[in-house]
Amino acid sequence: MTLFDRALVRLLPTVPKPVVQLFSARYIAGSTLDDAVRVVNQLNADGKMATIDVLGEEITHDDEARAIAQAYRDALDEIEHEHLDANVSVKLTGLGLGLSYDRCRANLEDVVRQAADDHSFVRIDMEDSSTTDDTLRLYRELREAGHENVGVVLQAHLRRTYDDVRALADLRPNVRICKGIYVEPSSIAFTDADAIRANFVRCLHALFDTGAYVGIATHDEWLIDRALRTIADRRLDRDAYELQMLLGVREQRATELVAEGHRLRVYVPFGEQWYAYSLRRLQENPAMAGTIARATVGRMLGRAA
Ligand SMILES: Cc1cc2nc3c(=O)[nH]c(=O)nc-3n(C[C@H](O)[C@H](O)[C@H](O)COP(=O)(O)OP(=O)(O)OC[C@H]3O[C@@H](n4cnc5c(N)ncnc54)[C@H](O)[C@@H]3O)c2cc1C
Repeated sequence: MTLFDRALVRLLPTVPKPVVQLFSARYIAGSTLDDAVRVVNQLNADGKMATIDVLGEEITHDDEARAIAQAYRDALDEIEHEHLDANVSVKLTGLGLGLSYDRCRANLEDVVRQAADDHSFVRIDMEDSSTTDDTLRLYRELREAGHENVGVVLQAHLRRTYDDVRALADLRPNVRICKGIYVEPSSIAFTDADAIRANFVRCLHALFDTGAYVGIATHDEWLIDRALRTIADRRLDRDAYELQMLLGVREQRATELVAEGHRLRVYVPFGEQWYAYSLRRLQENPAMAGTIARATVGRMLGRAA
């Protein structure tokens, strides 16, 4: 990214919403569950698995958290009904973590039970570092309560993550490992790209050492290459791991990985609350900032004319 692009990334929240929507359409299935089902059907036809994310962050009432939990239960029923090769990814703040730990746990448990009934699985996304302890605690509580169909996410950019892997080892956890999207201070997070990659690889090894099932979530070719070499060196069965990518990102590479025989899951978000998710994706897109800037200026000039 050039300096200009970096400056634009910081300005993205000031870009008009319709422009953000225009450029983020590729990252989102649509606003309804039917949209998500259509996209997942296509992914499955291409040999890719999916995980469905109901978009909804920054809720302020219990009712909203319950509505999101219900939307997940509907999604799980649809996955079962349509015989989709898919599971769901939930955000604990969407299920009410910011309002009450216990109510969030109840909402999550409802979704996990529904997933068990529908022969599916629930991945708990990891959010910013203020939620890490609660997220790992909830994951442990659910596993210790006998729920096997649930997994969690660890972020390689956090300095604590290697210790978290070791602390989870007794559960033989199901973990998605990713770099981590939320901006964190250098006191608790690696900020240098190479240090994040090194920690990703270190944690990946530690996870396989514990016997964990690992979802390797990255589009970074260097990391994909390292992960594939690790898998080959350890002679891992293809059922011991999966690769994961986001909808709309490096789709051609995902297709190649499937053709090479790897299991690959695509993260499929849908819902009305597309804005926060879209900003995060656009901020990560190395080629997009300049294009958006030109489109925004073009719009402004058009409006002025
Ligand atoms: C399936 C999945 C689930 C995730 N879940 C979480 C989570 O629960 N918590 C969390 O904090 N983070 C999550 N993330 C995000 C993750 O932490 C990273 O922020 C994100 O994947 C970018 O890091 P990267 O490893 O792909 O490397 P990058 O260096 O960011 O990307 C590598 C290359 O991929 C391409 N690319 C990446 N992003 C884009 C884009 N938006 N548009 C176009 N091209 C792009 C570019 O070619 C780029 O050079 C998830 C990511 C994935 C793939």
